Amino acid sequence: MLVCTVRDCRLPLLRTDRQMVCARGHSFDVARTGYLNLLQPQERRSKAPGDSVAAVAGRRRVYDLGVAAPLLAGIAEASRAEADDVVLDAGCGDGYYLGSLTGLCGCRGHGVDISIPAVEAAARRYPACEWVVANADRFVPYSDGAFSLVLSITARMNPGEFRRILRADGRLLVALPAPDDLIELRGSGREDRVDRTVADFAADFALIQQERVSTSADLDADTVAGLLRSIYRPAAAGGTVDMRVTFSLDLLLFRVL
Ligand SMILES: [Zn+2]
Repeated sequence: MLVCTVRDCRLPLLRTDRQMVCARGHSFDVARTGYLNLLQPQERRSKAPGDSVAAVAGRRRVYDLGVAAPLLAGIAEASRAEADDVVLDAGCGDGYYLGSLTGLCGCRGHGVDISIPAVEAAARRYPACEWVVANADRFVPYSDGAFSLVLSITARMNPGEFRRILRADGRLLVALPAPDDLIELRGSGREDRVDRTVADFAADFALIQQERVSTSADLDADTVAGLLRSIYRPAAAGGTVDMRVTFSLDLLLFRVL
């Protein structure tokens, strides 16, 4: 179901021993940890695109505290994921949501993200899923109709590509940061992005369910510092302090039109 990312090649990739190869002979190495790097040199705007090691570690610390468990439960329920689903998490980060979801429901999981540190962490932690480094802004490197469910969890969205890789009866679960998400760290509310997102997907998708899932947690100063790094915000001049932080997502479930 993976396709070649060299220019406009897009031929299927087939697994050899430690490589994936297309019929034109383009080849990609499978990393020791099991993920596949399909990023093309011209797609790296920076030397290390996507989330940094520090950003990945900051978010993981929050996940390991169990803080995001209510958000995960909300996503699992809203997505209606079942054992026979084939799921892509586009912009999967370190794999917390996809790896946990596949563990919960027994579905097959594929994750793609542009960050090598994030995907490497995902591959180490959740070896049962398939993990790929690629730039999904241009095209999502999977064949047409490969998935029954696509997740986009606080990630960049590519409506046309999400439609292409979904089956005709496929579902799309978009999780947007709600206006009060991390409001204690951001200092002000965020824009409500629900209406604009529904409009962005309207050509190919119909909204069938919408809900907000929120939780809050008392975090120590080190965890707050890590969380700030994960959203690329500087710490306050006097350093970080223990604080109660809100986590809040707007969950939108779409079906293919
Ligand atoms: Zn190729």
